Amino acid sequence: MSFENTEKISSTINDLSKSIYKHNSEVGWWDDLEKLRSEREDILDFIDDHEDHKSEVLDSINTSINLIITQKLALIHSEISEALEGLRKDLKDDHLPQYDMFAVELADALIRILDLAGAFNIPIGNIMMEKWDYNTKRVDHTREHRSGTNGKKF
Ligand SMILES: [Mg+2]
Repeated sequence: MSFENTEKISSTINDLSKSIYKHNSEVGWWDDLEKLRSEREDILDFIDDHEDHKSEVLDSINTSINLIITQKLALIHSEISEALEGLRKDLKDDHLPQYDMFAVELADALIRILDLAGAFNIPIGNIMMEKWDYNTKRVDHTREHRSGTNGKKF
């Protein structure tokens, strides 16, 4: 399934992702990442004879960046867990009581995913639309295939 306005949808999602990241960065949620990026730039600019040391420090910075990503992924999980809790207890959301907590936590998960994509300049809108198009054409996702031997039951 493809949309006539795929480009527009992709770019709107990309824009949303960039704005969420920009705001969160301005209010300090990404300070650790910005600091590591700045340290990495300093090291890359610094030309010396100690290439081994330089590469060790860069490895360490990249590991720290991956730990930040890991933390953000854990927070995305936490929103999904909150959605489950909301569903389990049939709760309304605390902040937006006009909606079910389940629905608001799904929105929180999306916001966190878009924020993470924005922080790493991932064109998430394009990827999402391409992946959705791919998924709609997958043979293993057809009703016939899924009802066969070893098919995906859910
Ligand atoms: Mg939440």
